[in-house]
Amino acid sequence: MTGETRTGLVFSHRYLQHNTNPYRLASGARLPFVEQVDHPSNPRLVDRTMHLVDLSGLSERLTKIEPYLASEEAILACHTPGLVERVKAADAAGGGDAGRGSPVGRGSYDIARLAAGGVMAAADAVMAGDVRRAYALVRPPGHHAVADLGMGFCVFNNIAIAARHVQRQHAVERVMILDWDVHDGNGTHSIFYDDPSILFVSLHQPELFPVGWGLIEQVGDGDGAGRTVNIPLPAGSGNAAYLAALEEVVAPIARQFGPELIMISAGQDASASDPLGRMSLTTDGYRQMTQIMIDLAEECCGGRIVAAQEGGYSEIYGPYCTLAIIETLAGRGSGIEEPLVDERSSAWPQTSTVGLDARATLDAVKARQSEYWQLA
Ligand SMILES: [Zn+2]
Repeated sequence: MTGETRTGLVFSHRYLQHNTNPYRLASGARLPFVEQVDHPSNPRLVDRTMHLVDLSGLSERLTKIEPYLASEEAILACHTPGLVERVKAADAAGGGDAGRGSPVGRGSYDIARLAAGGVMAAADAVMAGDVRRAYALVRPPGHHAVADLGMGFCVFNNIAIAARHVQRQHAVERVMILDWDVHDGNGTHSIFYDDPSILFVSLHQPELFPVGWGLIEQVGDGDGAGRTVNIPLPAGSGNAAYLAALEEVVAPIARQFGPELIMISAGQDASASDPLGRMSLTTDGYRQMTQIMIDLAEECCGGRIVAAQEGGYSEIYGPYCTLAIIETLAGRGSGIEEPLVDERSSAWPQTSTVGLDARATLDAVKARQSEYWQLA
């Protein structure tokens, strides 16, 4: 911890009203169990996270930032009018799909606008100096949404919309987005693929979702060449590999890029207990990753850093990982203990050592990206 720092938190109970259940994943159709289970992107993760932050006593030390509805103009900076109309129509019909696997229920159009506006509000507060750092605990997530389609539980691309908003409203040129959600941030990747003003770095499990995205050789196009950095860490990678990726690849590229704002697509589905990912990060890993990004922000951009909730599906462990991130941003521990048995999780092979497959991936990323950046 580097000392208590004025830190903002965005949350609204309206986020919990985004109902994904009418479009829950079909399993009863061909399996012997016919009972439906909730959609993985149900409200409980965000609800339980907010509850834990409250119970920890941390919320009273955070500055509450009110989200607002993103304007259509702000959304259209990253999306097509067709997607906006599609979401509105699905909402009016009482439910539908914003694209490929992104459920929309009644009221979801405004809630999705409030999610994008929540990340925008967090960025506004940081840019205005009202807070130094901010976490936007929003829902639905955004990083899979491409220009004309929602994808993978995401309706509008919250972080992309907020990054564009910051460039237009706060006279910022260069924004860095680090996406550590276990899935590739294909939406953000595609929206900014030829844009040299946005450095997009994604740490993810390869070929998890969506397939065909997040490859090392996808580095950006035209003027944006070298501004997309994909780091597909092998399944099973734990704290050591993630920290090595941040120290060896992310930090040196960030220093050379020189962002004026750092944003994090913070999906905590690379946690050791996540049902949708196969990584082994612990709260300690999230704490250290956050600290590295804070140090980079202090070095590069006056400490300005905004993190936004993406995925995360372990109802028990996910909230603790997010609490660890918010605590680190706030520079203040809550005293809540690591819920995994510490002696066991700290003895996992990839908690303290970088596996050979992960080492090979990092070396391959460095070889490819060294066409654009100085990497040791
Ligand atoms: Zn994810």
